Amino acid sequence: MTSAAYRPEPERGPVPAPAHGEAGPAPARDGAGPSDDRTAAPVPTVLHVDMDAFYASVEIRRRPELRGRPVVVGSPGPRGVVLSATHDVRAYGVHAGQPVGRARRLCPQASFVAPDHDEYARVSGNVMEYLRTLTPVVEPLSLDEAFLDLSGALRRLGRDPARIGADIRARVADEQGITCSVGVASTKFVAKLAGATVKPDGLRVVRDDEVIAFLHPLPVDRLWGVGERTEAALTRLGLYTVGDIAHTPPATLCRALGQAAGRTLYALAWGRDERPVVPSEPERSIGTEETFPADVDDPDTIRRALLRLSGRTGARLRGAGLAGRTVTVKLRFSDFTTLTRSKTLREATDVGREIYTAACALHAALGLERARLRLVGVRVEHLVPGDRPRQLLLGERETGWAEVERAADAVRDRFGGHALAPASLLPGTPAAPPPRPPRTGR
Ligand SMILES: [Mg+2]
Repeated sequence: MTSAAYRPEPERGPVPAPAHGEAGPAPARDGAGPSDDRTAAPVPTVLHVDMDAFYASVEIRRRPELRGRPVVVGSPGPRGVVLSATHDVRAYGVHAGQPVGRARRLCPQASFVAPDHDEYARVSGNVMEYLRTLTPVVEPLSLDEAFLDLSGALRRLGRDPARIGADIRARVADEQGITCSVGVASTKFVAKLAGATVKPDGLRVVRDDEVIAFLHPLPVDRLWGVGERTEAALTRLGLYTVGDIAHTPPATLCRALGQAAGRTLYALAWGRDERPVVPSEPERSIGTEETFPADVDDPDTIRRALLRLSGRTGARLRGAGLAGRTVTVKLRFSDFTTLTRSKTLREATDVGREIYTAACALHAALGLERARLRLVGVRVEHLVPGDRPRQLLLGERETGWAEVERAADAVRDRFGGHALAPASLLPGTPAAPPPRPPRTGR
């Protein structure tokens, strides 16, 4: 965990300078004294989140009989390959991409399971959706791995990145039943390496003033872009560690590896990585769901849940700069039967109140008559950029909810996520009755 105090808007860097005359910022140690460094070091805000043995973990979660056993997920058939394996199996030399037949010979006692890609996509979607509640700057690398840049979100979240990393790990374990590892640093590649050193089920922060000591002992193949051929070329130069690369003149590296690769490796060896965290392509949908502590049949309780979920969905849409036309309600009954109903609006919306109106209409149209529900969800699909001016349709009254909710966003940004209840619960704000209330509106 970092003990560095954090400033609300940390600057990037400083990153230690190269030893061989390339332009670069001065090493942190050369500036102020060591104790000053501690307090002045900017808080690293890049997180790398990586699910541990993802497919295998998901399988174990839903098949308790596999718990504690070595598990290999592999595609079926004579040419099947290993897709994921628990960490204990890896000790036998089993790894992803290997033929399943070879994995069986290496570790015959393992349970071999066929993959369920839909389930992995679903769990991944849940995790990514949660990460996007922390910051819209989420860059998924694969189903089980993502970078986050928290620099714009620290004030709103009111916690330092190490704490947020710990919260992510706890939340993913609680809600998805799988573990993940988190690395925190100021650059993407150091964050990823930091997380890799504590896998499985760990968290590591590498502060800026620790980057060089962290990187230099690592073998060269840990640097991004170092494959077998590059590693062989580095070995010919007598370079085995990242520190060896850092203390080799860039010109020598460029002669051996080419200009681009030489310069890149030299920069990485000094902890320099300019690549920003790039949020992924717009989501296909944004939504959220809630499992009741006990099954619920009271329509009023269900509508309140729809209101909360719609509000959260609207806030997420606005946070991601998106709006959507299709509102989907998901209802799971006490017997686990699940039903979804969708409604397409005339205009894309990012307003929780409008999502709620559609969600209530969908729920009411089902005429459930006190069926017992264990879960409700609200989702908005067919997403488009949300900053387009809304067209008022002829005869439509501007409700003002868009403004109310944007104002609430601003308050939450400034004072933290729990500063405001849903807009309709604000004192003095009349709670609009749900559309078509079955009895008397509240
Ligand atoms: Mg992983």
